[in-house]
Parts: sequence; C-alpha cells; structure tokens
Amino acid sequence: MTSIPDITLNNGQTIPQFGFGVFQIEPKDTVAAVRTALEAGYRHIDTAEMYGNEAEVGEAIVRSGLDRGEVFVTSKLSNDAHEPDAARAAFDATLKALGFDYVNLFLIHWPLPTRYGGDFVSTWKTLEEFYREGRARSIGVSNFQPRHLRRLHDETEIIPAVNQIEISPYLTQDDVRAFCAEHQIAVEAWSPLGQGAVLGDPVVRFIAERTGKTPAQVVLRWHIQRGDIVFPKSVTPNRIRENIDIFDFELSAGDVEDITMLNKNERTGPDPDKFDGRKPS
Ligand code: NAD
Repeated sequence: MTSIPDITLNNGQTIPQFGFGVFQIEPKDTVAAVRTALEAGYRHIDTAEMYGNEAEVGEAIVRSGLDRGEVFVTSKLSNDAHEPDAARAAFDATLKALGFDYVNLFLIHWPLPTRYGGDFVSTWKTLEEFYREGRARSIGVSNFQPRHLRRLHDETEIIPAVNQIEISPYLTQDDVRAFCAEHQIAVEAWSPLGQGAVLGDPVVRFIAERTGKTPAQVVLRWHIQRGDIVFPKSVTPNRIRENIDIFDFELSAGDVEDITMLNKNERTGPDPDKFDGRKPS
C-alpha cells in the first residue's frame, strides 16, 4: 500500500507531498476524476477559482464519504481579483463553491507585476486576513520569483507557506528552489510531467525500463526525491492509479542527477515576470 509522506510547512501545518491537480478538467468530468483519485488514496486536491471546478471538487469530497479533515484542499485567487475588496469577495465565493468553511491552503495564483501597479503586497495582506480568521489554514503564492518573495518578506508579516511554480525535468528551477529552501518556503511543482512532454525523453525511458516503472512514475518519483510537492493531473482512471504508485521504489542518486541534467529552462506556461493574467492558467 502506498504511504505518502507529509511535509511540515513553516507554520506547523502539514501537507501531503503528493496530490491530484484538476487544471483543465472539465466541470462535468471533475467529480468522477476526483472520486477516482480519492479511492486510489490521494488526500490532497489542487484547484483554483480560474479552473472553474471548485464546486465539483467539493462535491466529490463530500460524496466520497471521507471526513473533510482527511483531505487537504488548495485553491487560488483569480487574476481578476487582486484588489483587497475583490480578493475578499473572491475568497468568499471560493469557500461557497467548495461548500467548506475553510481551505487548507490559499494562494495568490500569479504575481502579475505588470498589472494593478505591481501591487501584490496589498493582495498578500488580504490573504493574511483569511489566515488570521482561520478560513485559510495556510497561505502561499504561486509563480513568484525571488524578487517578488523578497518584497513580501520586507513589507508584510507572514512568510508564504509555499510557492507553487512550474517545474519539470526540462525546467528544474534550482535557483528559485534554493531561495525558497533558504526562507523555509515549501516548493510545489506544477505541470510536473511537463504536461506529458518529458515522458518520451530517452533518459527517462531508459530509467523506466531499468526500474520496471513507467516514465510518468519515474518523473514523479524524481520530484518526490528532490523534496518538492506534486499533484499530477489525469482524467484516465488507470493513469490516476499509476501516478500514485510511486512509493515502493527509489531512484539512485545518479538517476536523480541524470534527470536533473535534462534541464533546458523550457517553460510550458507563461513567464511570471511578463504574464498579466488575462488568460486562465
Ligand atoms: P501535468 O504535468 O500533470 O500533465 C498532465 C498531462 O500529462 C495529462 O493531461 C496527460 O496528458 C498526461 N499524463 C498524466 N499522467 C500520465 C501518465 N501516467 N502517463 C502518460 N501521460 C500522463 O500538467 P498540469 O495538469 O498542467 O499540472 C498539474 C497540476 O498543477 C494542475 O492540474 C494544477 O493543479 C497545477 N497547475 C498550476 C499552475 C499554476 O499556475 N499555479 C499552472 C498549471 C498547473
């Protein structure tokens, strides 16, 4: 049976290191996909206001019969709601859609340095309210570069519990990861499979053949051994079960190094320094 490690965040809360992402899952498919994941042993779901499926995530958790406290739920603030009053209304709407009175983790989805006069600091101070109220058990950011994190550090009270950034073997982000490690900010790796792009890589395939695992399992295991938090997405039941089946084997230090060396600083998503948030992601 799988045993998923917990990571302790800088405020003492714990988060399962492995979970299920629901970006680009249609609302009509979300209840089934999340229920399959929960049945397979996932206990951490990563959604966002902009994914349009928070209500279905909440419904799936309720219908699973699990207690609310058994599932770690993350959501994220819409890019259109960074101003404090808009952020408060958006957070209320997130809780209402989920049908819960708290989320385990709430994130600023993108820093949007070219919008709102570059003021993500007021947005963060609004998330600090949600944290103090207990309606967000932890708060964090997503797609923040070290310079954005430094500004929060200088101008606000609470250090983000996590920074959720794009990471895959083709985009290892070791500079941002090192900054986060130094400041006790846990790193979450989004698009951990490069949306599937890394699965045909010859190095990944070679290691998969040698270990008797699939390319997806090898890449997810690489993330876990580097210490990052991951939540791959799939709507295919067999793949949902395949992706969590990574806690019965280990990559050697050499395998981890070989995969890390595939880095080519290749993003599948937008550049956080330039993105103005007009498109969902
Ligand atoms: P991913 O790297 O998890 O790739 C998902 C795709 O990989 C699937 O659509 C499928 O085509 C393929 N795949 C999955 N399992 C497979 C398997 N076992 N074998 C073969 N192919 C497989 O990409 P993602 O969905 O973009 O990222 C995961 C999660 O990260 C999202 O669902 C979301 O929760 C989060 N995310 C966050 C941001 C952000 O800005 N914070 C952006 C993108 C994604």
